[in-house]
Amino acid sequence: MTTTFDLESVRGDFPILEKSFRGKSLAYLDNAATSQKPNAVIDAIANHYRNSNANVHRGVYALAEGTESAYVHARKVIADHLAVSTEEIIFVRGTTEALNLVAQSYARTHLNEGDIVVLTTMEHHANILPWQLVKTQTGIEIEISPILEDGSLDRDALCALLDQPKVKLLSLCHVSNSLGTVNPVVEIVAEAKERGVVTVVDGAQSISHGPIDLREIDCDFFAFSGHKVFAPMGIGVLYGKRDLLADMPPYQGGGDMIDEVTFEKTTFAPPPQRFEAGTPNVEGAIGLGAAIEYIGNLDLAAAAAHEQALLEQATDGLEALPGLTIHGSAPGKAAVVSFTIDGIHPHDIATFLDAEGIAIRTGHHCCQPLMEHLGISATARASFAFYNSKEEVARLVEALKKTIACFQ
Ligand code: PMP
Repeated sequence: MTTTFDLESVRGDFPILEKSFRGKSLAYLDNAATSQKPNAVIDAIANHYRNSNANVHRGVYALAEGTESAYVHARKVIADHLAVSTEEIIFVRGTTEALNLVAQSYARTHLNEGDIVVLTTMEHHANILPWQLVKTQTGIEIEISPILEDGSLDRDALCALLDQPKVKLLSLCHVSNSLGTVNPVVEIVAEAKERGVVTVVDGAQSISHGPIDLREIDCDFFAFSGHKVFAPMGIGVLYGKRDLLADMPPYQGGGDMIDEVTFEKTTFAPPPQRFEAGTPNVEGAIGLGAAIEYIGNLDLAAAAAHEQALLEQATDGLEALPGLTIHGSAPGKAAVVSFTIDGIHPHDIATFLDAEGIAIRTGHHCCQPLMEHLGISATARASFAFYNSKEEVARLVEALKKTIACFQ
């Protein structure tokens, strides 16, 4: 186990970081969109296809038993990492599917016309649209908890919203993908629980930035995507509290989620199988298990401290540039810097940076309501992972200086 953070050795685990584009070595600063994959994950997937590929569930031959045990092991690794039990871990495609599952299986069947779901201004579309679909289906209401100027949640306003007896569910991000705001979910979940409000935490952006203890957070549901945490795309997790899951109908019907089927009537398997119809993404689950084992062997506190140092360096460097505005400065924010520059369209910023080998993202980041609140249509966003370096941040600042000079 690595006990201190050795950046060079960590970077060596991620082969793509050695690549060059446009004649410049890659500085990958788009980690909020997706993360790069370590050899441990790439090898686990290749090994699965080279040596053990078969379908899971009910195979009685040795090859299938190997796949089954790798799949079961992955679920256990993830459950242990989150400090919950394996029956509470549902494999899904990603955060988007996880939130849709909660909306369709829990909210659609447990909420009634006039009940209120509370979201926040900083939510990703994946945590807005599923509730809008339930609104159309059941007549629930959606209310929005506002944010303060620095991008943190207005906690008084949130409490006032939660005080309404019709509020039945609160769904919010742990970390904002656009602003980097880290919501104090332990406190917020406790406040919601006091009022009998069910809590859903979108962990898409928090899962890669440090340890997550779901017993401590104590939310009812937690969603994340594998690809944001150094694992493959097309796999993710919905955690749900055992009692709630037991009381939820299936989300989809098909193979591997039943107890007994007749043409007249079907009984369903208990969670998590009840929510995993069809052949699962076995390679994805194995890759996700490998990614969680990989980060489990890092000193996550040291990795988080390194990310914070990069954030500080980037913030100081960018703040000093003429006409540049950083959006989101909540205390304790995650390593995400969203910014605009007077007179330069964010897409032009990204194109200039691309010529320097620097990959950042621009646009509304699937947060159009937040952009509307900020009075802008898009930002440029640099987002860091623990494998990024001070040199890469320095290159970002220098390239932005050059970009600004070109437009003057
Ligand atoms: N929520 C947040 C906060 C996100 O950043 C993202 C991905 N950008 C999502 C949800 C959706 O994740 P996915 O597309 O992997 O389902």
